[in-house]
Amino acid sequence: MIKIKHVSIFLVFGLIISMSFSVATPVKSLSFTGGFYSVQNLRYSCSSMCTYWVHGANAWNNISTKVHSSRHYGVDSDGHARLYGTTTTVSGLLGQVFPYTQYGVGVDPIYDGTGTGRWVFAIGVLYTNNLTSDQMRRAVAVHEFGHILSQKHNSYTNSVMYPSYGTNRLLPSNYDKGSLITRWGN
Ligand SMILES: [Zn+2]
Repeated sequence: MIKIKHVSIFLVFGLIISMSFSVATPVKSLSFTGGFYSVQNLRYSCSSMCTYWVHGANAWNNISTKVHSSRHYGVDSDGHARLYGTTTTVSGLLGQVFPYTQYGVGVDPIYDGTGTGRWVFAIGVLYTNNLTSDQMRRAVAVHEFGHILSQKHNSYTNSVMYPSYGTNRLLPSNYDKGSLITRWGN
């Protein structure tokens, strides 16, 4: 999930979760142990906003030999990640990822928690009515695809996983690349 501005309360899976960020608080973990079993050959299908989703997926390729995703053009339900754009009535909400496990949606607090569940597939959404520029669409797609790769929010303002849009965090930083390698291997 990513929002335009720094917020202290936001909506995830119907639950209100309080969050507070402080740059002085060290972040011990930037990824969570749950997610896909492997992302070495991750297939994603896309039905709209695909230019941006492809950008978002490619931004995480070629960092780790264990992480590679490519677009799947067949039946949508064959994709590990199913990506599209739609509109929202939630002010400032830019994008979201909904993981599905064998138990159903939402068992993993993927954004800021320590989810351990194994995903069967995930749905990624860009909220087009709140994305006001090309650059913003690209940046949010990178952020949301980071969640698909088990990356969670952090408090480093130059990280693409910082939970708000900013022109200083458009692509994975060295910090983000290290976090990806920590999660999946080199
Ligand atoms: Zn997020």
